[in-house]
Amino acid sequence: MISKKLHDAINEQINAELWSAYLYLSMSLDAEDKGLKGVANWFFIQFREEQDHARIFMNYLNSQGAKVVLKPIAKVDTKWKTPLDMFKKTLEHEKVVTSLIHNLAVIAHEDMDFASINRLNWFVDEQVEEEENARELIDSFEMAGDNKYGIYQLDKELATRVYKVPSPLATAE
Ligand code: MG
Repeated sequence: MISKKLHDAINEQINAELWSAYLYLSMSLDAEDKGLKGVANWFFIQFREEQDHARIFMNYLNSQGAKVVLKPIAKVDTKWKTPLDMFKKTLEHEKVVTSLIHNLAVIAHEDMDFASINRLNWFVDEQVEEEENARELIDSFEMAGDNKYGIYQLDKELATRVYKVPSPLATAE
């Protein structure tokens, strides 16, 4: 059993994860439009991962006998000037998501809800990784600056990213 407060907050979080998915899909499409296939690939994988995050929360609510209620997805930007701008926005957004996850963890602790604390711990770790990835890519694109060859090389590197099923879903299969 989870509290009504945590149940409502996780429903909000499902919306936030799906909004993240929509944001990264938009970045992927904008990168594709700019001929940056590697950047497009990176964000498309990010789009899939965010849907997975939503799914993990949905599975969790279902497992607790708590109903998932979907809410409208707010609109997202559709254009960025450079890949650097995309990764800066990504970091800024992931920091917001981190604080949302931490708020959920605070509620779970207040409730002394140990199952929810365990589930949320996975997300706490995941957010460290998300922020670190964005920070590394900001550094790389800052180093490349306006150098077209540098951007081309980075784009090629990002084309190699492959999608992996996150562990909470992999074990559920
Ligand atoms: Mg997420």
